[in-house]
Amino acid sequence: MPIKAPRGTYDIMPPVSRSWQVLEERLKEVARLYGYQEIRTPLFEYTELFERGVGEGTDIVSKEMYTFYDKSGRSLTLRPEMTASCARALIEHSAHTGLLPIKWFYYGPMFRYDRPQSGRYRQFHQFGVEVFGSASPMVDAEVLMMMVQMLKAIGLKEYRLHLNSVGCPSCRDSYRQALLDHIKPFCKELCPDCQQRYQQNPLRVLDCKNPGCHQAITGYPRLLDHLCADCARHYQRVQETLKGHGISFLHDDQLVRGLDYYTNTAFEIHIPGIGAQSAVGGGGRYNGLVKAIDGPDLPGIGFALGLERLLLAMQQNHTLNQHRNGIEVFVAVMEAQYEDIAISILQELRAAGIAADKDYMDRKARAQMKYADKLGAPLVLLVGDEEVKAGFVTVRNMTSKRQVAISRADLIPGIKNLLQQNEEEQA
Ligand code: AMP
Repeated sequence: MPIKAPRGTYDIMPPVSRSWQVLEERLKEVARLYGYQEIRTPLFEYTELFERGVGEGTDIVSKEMYTFYDKSGRSLTLRPEMTASCARALIEHSAHTGLLPIKWFYYGPMFRYDRPQSGRYRQFHQFGVEVFGSASPMVDAEVLMMMVQMLKAIGLKEYRLHLNSVGCPSCRDSYRQALLDHIKPFCKELCPDCQQRYQQNPLRVLDCKNPGCHQAITGYPRLLDHLCADCARHYQRVQETLKGHGISFLHDDQLVRGLDYYTNTAFEIHIPGIGAQSAVGGGGRYNGLVKAIDGPDLPGIGFALGLERLLLAMQQNHTLNQHRNGIEVFVAVMEAQYEDIAISILQELRAAGIAADKDYMDRKARAQMKYADKLGAPLVLLVGDEEVKAGFVTVRNMTSKRQVAISRADLIPGIKNLLQQNEEEQA
C-alpha cells in the first residue's frame, strides 16, 4: 500500500495553493492597515507552556495535544494555538519594555488531536492577531472591526458575530456560585463531560455542544447580570462602539471562556451555510494570561481565524474564481537552434516581473501552442527563423488569435502593453 498523509492532515496542491496565497496576502494586508507586525514562533514548545497558558481544564490540553519526548527526555508539544507562544515570546524578549500596545499578527499550522471531519483537521491553519498592553475597550472594538474587515477583504459579507463578556475573576466568583446552585438539581442529566465540568469549571457547561445539556440547564443565570461595575462599563463601551461603526453582533450568554485569565470580551464569528463547523474564528480578552506564565501584569486580547473554514466559505460564496494562476507569457520555439534565444527572452521577461515559461518536453511547434493554451497563457511569443533574422518577436493573443510583431528592443513595454490590453478586454 502506498503511504498516505496522516489522518486529519492533507496536502495543499496546485492550483489550490494559489488560493491559499491570495487568502494569506489579503489577511496580511488588512493586518498591515491596522498597524500589526508579524511574529513567527517555533512549531513546538515545552508542554508546560500550553498546560499553564491554555489551561489544564481545557479540551485542548486535556485531550488534543500532540505531546512527545525528545531524545533528552524533555516534554514538547506541537503548538495547538499561538496565543501562549506569543505571550511566551513577549516575556522572553521583554517586548513590553518597548512601545505599547504591541500589535502582532501570525499565520501558520496548528496541531490538535481532534476527530477529523469536514472543516476539522489535525493539522490546520490559523491567521491570528494579539494586542498586548492596553485594557481599553476601544482596542476590543478595533480588533473586532478588523476581524470583520478581514472577512470583507476575502469577499465574505455575511457573518454572525457572537459577543459576550466573561467579566473578571471577581465577578465570575459570584456568578460561579449562582450557576452551581442552578445546575445542582439537574446534574445527573448532564453529559459525562459536563458532570466533570460541573465539579471543575461550571462555566464550561454553558458552551457544551450537547443539546441535552442546554435543555437540562434552561433558565440558567446570566453572567451579564453578575458583572461588576467596571466590567459592565467595559462591555457597554465595546457594544456602543461596534454599533456606532455599523458592525452587527448578537449578545450570546452561552459564549464563555472558562479559564481564570480570560476577562471581559469573548467572541466568535460564524459564516452561515458552511456546515456544522461554521465558526471561522474566535477570540477574546485575556488580561491574566501573561502574568499566569510568570510575565508582567499586562492585559491582552486576540483572535484566530481558521483558514480551512475561510476557504470553504470563499468557495461556497464564489469569491475564489478570479485569481489568475500561472504564467502570463509562453515562449514558443519554432526551431531547436533558438532555445538559447528563448531562454534570454524568458530571463528578460522574468526580470521585468512578467511570469513566463517555455516547453521542456521537446514538443513540436503545434504541440507547444496546445500546451500554452492548457497552461492558460494569455500571450504566446513565437521565436522562429524570420523573427530571429529580423530582430523581432511575433506575439499571439490566445483569446482573440490576433498576432502582432514587436521589435526585440521594445519587448518589455510592448508585452506589458499587450497584457494590459488583454486584461481590459477580459474584464
Ligand atoms: P480556537 O483557537 O479553538 O478558538 O479556534 C479558532 C478558529 O480556528 C476556529 O474558529 C476554527 O475556524 C479554527 N479551528 C480550530 N480548530 C480547528 C480544527 N481542528 N480544524 C480546522 N479549523 C480549526
